[in-house]
Amino acid sequence: MTAKVYAPAPGAILTARDVWAGVQVGKIIKPIVQGGRLTVPRGGILGLVGESGSGKTQFVRAMMGLSSLEPGVFAGSAIYAIGDGPPVDVLEGVTTYAPYRPPRGDELFPQRERIGWGWPLWRRRHRARLALLRTLGVGFIFQNPVGALNPFLRIGTQLVEAVRVAHPSANGKEAEERAIHWLAQVHLTAERQTLGLYPHELSGGMAQRVMIALALAGEPHFIVADEPTTGLDSHIRLEIVGLLNRIMGQGNLSGIVISHDLPMIARLCDRLTVMYRGRVVEEGPIEALGNPKSDSHPYTRELKERAESLAKGRHSRTRGGVEKTGGTGVVVGTGCIYRSRCAIYKDGDVDKARCEREQPPMRVIADGHQVACHAEDVAGAWDAATSLEAGGHDG
Ligand code: SF4
Repeated sequence: MTAKVYAPAPGAILTARDVWAGVQVGKIIKPIVQGGRLTVPRGGILGLVGESGSGKTQFVRAMMGLSSLEPGVFAGSAIYAIGDGPPVDVLEGVTTYAPYRPPRGDELFPQRERIGWGWPLWRRRHRARLALLRTLGVGFIFQNPVGALNPFLRIGTQLVEAVRVAHPSANGKEAEERAIHWLAQVHLTAERQTLGLYPHELSGGMAQRVMIALALAGEPHFIVADEPTTGLDSHIRLEIVGLLNRIMGQGNLSGIVISHDLPMIARLCDRLTVMYRGRVVEEGPIEALGNPKSDSHPYTRELKERAESLAKGRHSRTRGGVEKTGGTGVVVGTGCIYRSRCAIYKDGDVDKARCEREQPPMRVIADGHQVACHAEDVAGAWDAATSLEAGGHDG
């Protein structure tokens, strides 16, 4: 079978398609990301949302060569079109050389397909392509900044190292001045004394700012922020969101914000990709989050309802759910992975047998907006299902 040829989406800085990544558990490969896809427009910020364990972080790490899973990514394409050079597909050839392939037909798990020297050689080429990507300008803001910073090095040393990615010929004094400049950009005391601090001497908010300064010091064109406000108290969280909003709103920076914090995503991002249990279930404009009439996937609606309930201080609840709590983690199986929680499947206008039989493919419902759902009219089916449910509660 000839390998599929991928092309970058028009106007996109990153186009990812059919990405599969997994981890070996005993004799099986558990798929953590199942056919992941996303498109980041040039100059745009994409919000990647989903509950914990939905595979968001592993999806992005797989595309950036930061995954520590084995075998990690084994199929798909991730094309970066940064700078003036030709686009770089950091996963080029992975589907041809990886020892595993995605499941087909009734298979539930990825299958071992070949063994040989092609895979180690591909991994070497992959590392070279990732090194090229970093020189093109890609930055990463990790979750848990205290853990991500090197505890043995002063933050000044780490910042100077990051400055040298963008300015390899800068002398010591110039690099230090640039490091101080980046401290000022993230509203930290911009003086030599701050550069002398070790990560353990920083508060959570300071560590997150240093993490942002480190990502910016390489002067990236593309930046990924992974749960940038997790673990911060509310006023520091607001400050960090404001800071990211200012940095990302400058227009020449594109990127991805990974979070389950929907208000932050709505503030920072132009587009939205929603993941549920290893699969992308919706891609669309950020307005889909705030518009109750939008044809959103039922899972996106559930996330919105939960966020609204939490904001009002109520406990979140799951509509129509067989599975009322938990329910995170990647699953394999036939049919729609969301059906155990789906209000439309339970009460709405949809072919239930099809939901049980076929994994829904992504379907275009409006310009730039796709959902993975078999219901023809998602908004209408949702309204029918939820009004029935409300009627049931009243009675
Ligand atoms: S495909 Fe069926 S079960 Fe899945 S989200 Fe749509 S209606 Fe619900």
